[in-house]
Amino acid sequence: MTRKVLVLEDEANIRSFVVINLKRAGYDAIEAGTGEEALARIQQNPDIQVALLDIMLPGEMDGFEVCRRIRAGNSQMGIIMLTARTQEMDKVSGLMTGADDYVTKPFSPAELTARVDALFRRTGGGAMRDADEIEQPPFLLNTRNRTLEKNGKRVKLTQVEYSIVKLFMENPGKALSREEILKAVWGTEFLGELKIVDVNIRRLRIKLEDDPQNPSYVITVWGFGYRWEM
Ligand code: CA
Repeated sequence: MTRKVLVLEDEANIRSFVVINLKRAGYDAIEAGTGEEALARIQQNPDIQVALLDIMLPGEMDGFEVCRRIRAGNSQMGIIMLTARTQEMDKVSGLMTGADDYVTKPFSPAELTARVDALFRRTGGGAMRDADEIEQPPFLLNTRNRTLEKNGKRVKLTQVEYSIVKLFMENPGKALSREEILKAVWGTEFLGELKIVDVNIRRLRIKLEDDPQNPSYVITVWGFGYRWEM
């Protein structure tokens, strides 16, 4: 499931900076340049979970008014105010009742995405994600669609390969014996056929690793099995 973030900011260069960094962090950014536009986007995308609201905006509405109107119709959405100057801070703290957090410009991409991540966890986005997605950058496994993405790009897997990756991603850092992998993926009737594990791991490495000869995700544990390194 996509994680939608509304970005309300009238300055195009700041907005694209924010959007680029959110996309890089795996979010789906919905853009708006005015308060009116922001409210329209929210109507079109009721699944927006977090909104970043600039305060000083052209048009009738400022960011506080947008925040107030969002809250009037939706108490679940996470709201972060983007404040330009320290003078705005007093005003923000006075009006923080509606917002969850604020970030003062200029902010670093890391700071921004950390705040958005935290808010997603708090608003339940994290929990919803956990139910059908396992995210271990650069990988994102969707257990509902049985799909895997690496850096946002779909990796085509067979059902067996998918099952191995799922087992790995559910057990990051844990050494799994070949028997264990065989039993979990193929079932007990295949016991003794350990070679098929190795064959599939070899294929998986070609699909997943940057350099299959020097794997950095699927690590061999000599004389035992494999470990998913995250
Ligand atoms: Ca502004």
